Amino acid sequence: MAIATVNPATGEVVKTFDPMTPAEIDAKLTAALQGFQTLAAWSFERRAAAMREAARILDEEREEIARILTIEMGKTIRSARAEVSKCARALRFYAEHAEEFLADEPADAAAIGASRAFVRYQPIGPVLAVMPWNYPLWQVIRFAAPALMAGNSGVLKHASNVPQAALFLEELFRRAGFPDGAFVTVLVGSDAVEKIIADPRIRAVTLTGSEYAGRQVAAIAGRELKKTVLELGGSDPFIVLPSADIERAAEVATTTRCQNNGQSCIAAKRFIVHAEVYEAFAEAFVAKMSALKVGDPLDDATEIGPLATEQGRADVEELVEDARAKGAQILCGGRRPEGPGWWYPPTVVAGVTPQMRMFDEEVFGPVAGLYRVTSADEALRLANATPFGLGSNVWTRDLAEAEHFVNGLEAGMVFVNGMTTSYPEVPFGGIKNSGYGRELSAHGIREFCNIKTVWIG
Ligand code: NAP
Repeated sequence: MAIATVNPATGEVVKTFDPMTPAEIDAKLTAALQGFQTLAAWSFERRAAAMREAARILDEEREEIARILTIEMGKTIRSARAEVSKCARALRFYAEHAEEFLADEPADAAAIGASRAFVRYQPIGPVLAVMPWNYPLWQVIRFAAPALMAGNSGVLKHASNVPQAALFLEELFRRAGFPDGAFVTVLVGSDAVEKIIADPRIRAVTLTGSEYAGRQVAAIAGRELKKTVLELGGSDPFIVLPSADIERAAEVATTTRCQNNGQSCIAAKRFIVHAEVYEAFAEAFVAKMSALKVGDPLDDATEIGPLATEQGRADVEELVEDARAKGAQILCGGRRPEGPGWWYPPTVVAGVTPQMRMFDEEVFGPVAGLYRVTSADEALRLANATPFGLGSNVWTRDLAEAEHFVNGLEAGMVFVNGMTTSYPEVPFGGIKNSGYGRELSAHGIREFCNIKTVWIG
């Protein structure tokens, strides 16, 4: 895939970039090692000051950065602004909490014959971050804020369609006052990743992206004995039970499914609705999906823009056509418009069966699968009948029922009566084919630390 900015709203190639040469990559890795050595010796206070400066730059230059995101991957300008602000908040969060998250943890010294014993968290070195285009800033900041606060350096290999965002991120940390090499971007295609992982200067790898890329990268890292954190795809269930607030559920269903033009790993993708409220929910949901304002992503009034790539749209279209051919009903949308750009309308597909690809594949676009069930147990079984296990969503006013789903859902996150969202305060990540490891909170910052046992006699 060429490294280029292609405006998804028009299909126009805005800017192309040459991939870095082996010598340029080598220089970046040397810089990252030096950056690590310098940063590891800095106090938390000094790292936090640079973090806060990075947050200040994001707040101050929000409009300009938001435009880069919209032009590179088509998200609406409103959601691009929100993404920039969310990143600033996460930077400040780790500036404030990293020291407490990584403080020495006392152990029971007497039980192990020591006069003193504790656990110390230390940085491990340069970490390679292979990142996706869907939240070009947030996915990276989610890794970088804790990594740099822990004293690691970051080497970013961003998706090939967001090179300007990738370059901006390197600049951001440099301008914020982090040492040279603390955060570097390598502009390379995915074919260069294997060699970088194998390089002894790289100590660990984090990947956010598809299941396919996760498997490839984890296999290489496994061979090289390097730790990985994988944040992969999802096909989150959204379960609506009879006691739910149907209107509110339909509203959130529309927002979650169509956020980021339908391209979010934690967007609910399978809407599992109890028969008692199925008709009411379906009617409200289809009405809201059909009413979304599709248009120029740079326009403030637009609610949904194009898909990020031509291939991405073809993949979504193929899944919908497969379902249609096998007997599903398309309740709204389902046909791409004529003209340039990678547009696809908000779509609701009812009557999805296990024979249809949508049943167990991730649909990365504004397409909802609607399922009717006749009991809470059937809802739970269907919710878990997926290879993925990222987020999940349950709508019920019955607390005992909610508890049953909180325990029973095979997912890294459960949200009851609200939208699945990432917050710095709580861990983020999945199980099954959605990957392993956690980002955010205290759990996230400890993933790339040497958890060192100290025993003193
Ligand atoms: P992708 O195709 O897997 O790409 C992600 C990154 O991996 C890109 O930098 C890509 O580089 C690189 N890559 C792809 N194949 C590779 C390989 N064989 N070896 C090494 N690197 C490789 O995913 P995407 O299309 O950008 O993003 C969509 C997917 O990400 C969806 O499945 C979504 O659910 C998932 N996602 C998960 C989370 C989460 O937190 N769990 C968050 C966001 C997105 P190139 O661009 O150069 O190919």
